Amino acid sequence: MTGLRAPIEVVGAGPAGLAAAITAARGGRRVVVHEAGREVGHRFRRDLQGLENWTGDRDALDVLRDAGLTTDFDHAPCLKGVAFDAWDRPHALCSSAPIFYLVERGPGRGSLDRALLDQALCLGVEIRYGSRRQRLDGPGIFACGPRTADAIAAGYHFETGLVDGFWVILDEALAPGGYAYLLVMGGRGTVKSCMFRDFARHRLYVERTVERFRRLVGFDMLEVRFHCGVANFPRPPAARSRRQPIAGEQAGFQDALAGFGMRYAMFSGVMAARSLLDGTDYDASCEQAMKRPIETADVNRAIYDRLGNRGYRWLLRGQAWTGDTRRFLRWLYRPARLRHLLLPWAQRRHPARSRRFA
Ligand SMILES: Cc1cc2nc3c(=O)[nH]c(=O)nc-3n(C[C@H](O)[C@H](O)[C@H](O)COP(=O)(O)OP(=O)(O)OC[C@H]3O[C@@H](n4cnc5c(N)ncnc54)[C@H](O)[C@@H]3O)c2cc1C
Repeated sequence: MTGLRAPIEVVGAGPAGLAAAITAARGGRRVVVHEAGREVGHRFRRDLQGLENWTGDRDALDVLRDAGLTTDFDHAPCLKGVAFDAWDRPHALCSSAPIFYLVERGPGRGSLDRALLDQALCLGVEIRYGSRRQRLDGPGIFACGPRTADAIAAGYHFETGLVDGFWVILDEALAPGGYAYLLVMGGRGTVKSCMFRDFARHRLYVERTVERFRRLVGFDMLEVRFHCGVANFPRPPAARSRRQPIAGEQAGFQDALAGFGMRYAMFSGVMAARSLLDGTDYDASCEQAMKRPIETADVNRAIYDRLGNRGYRWLLRGQAWTGDTRRFLRWLYRPARLRHLLLPWAQRRHPARSRRFA
């Protein structure tokens, strides 16, 4: 029966495409994935990223498992870290539950991409590397990642003797409109400036970021490699291209405030595949699951754009008063009436994002 039906073709083997492929294969369909690169995760080789644990009440790993996705990748729960303001003052970030899970990206053993790939292969998914597709004729899903750069994160991947942990700096001189970060897991580190404007001077911001973290945290860097990646927040999110669903960052399912897009990517991939398996309305599922959080992130972004260094310091003090960083972020990302009232204002500040969802 399965062999007689046309395979489901997935374009892109990032978290969104692989999650879609796994879901479709678990649903009994033959699946072919087209990946333009020569291996999975090639955009992120050895990057450390945070799988956020604040946009839902339930733990992110439990949610992945319930969706039928593997959690068999190296991960470190992050319950405490430090954020510095522009005056070098440390602010504790802590929570009774993981704020996020550190994971590695790229093709290497133990990475998120590799775990998803292994799960897909075990389910019989065929991966065609070096296969770039712009259109599909049969049933399929597009998950090609970002098209342009609304934000960039630039810095270094390295080996280090520093203990596992995370550190953040909110300072316009290091990361305009964004934040600088240092992540360490199992002797590997990532130090980056995530900036939302002035990309042409990214080298300057990276060097300032490294110098500041060296002074504030102190760490060694061995086998240093430069890395730069882009994030894209197209608005309105477009969940469909002609007949085919679009998943992940290509559709605009990204966190416009801080760029934590992996969770949206994987869940939109799962929903896109389910729509092909059982005919559920993908647009409606996306609207129900993601419209309000994404709009809230848009409002948060517009507010953050106006804060500047004094505002960032106020934000850090504010999260300290709540006594639990995860709870603070949960509140910040939760769709709320007041923030929803600010949506027209936020959308005027970002005209490209101002049209209706879907
Ligand atoms: C430096 C950096 C740090 C980040 N840190 C975090 C973080 O800490 N936490 C977090 O949640 N998110 C983070 N993100 C965002 C996160 O990486 C993305 O949201 C996520 O990877 C999006 O997944 P995706 O599957 O939609 O796209 P991608 O991961 O970009 O995968 C798309 C794939 O499609 C392939 N492709 C593209 N076009 C075609 C085509 N025409 N045919 C075939 N294949 C094609 C590409 O080669 C690629 O492999 C970060 C992003 C960057 C750049």
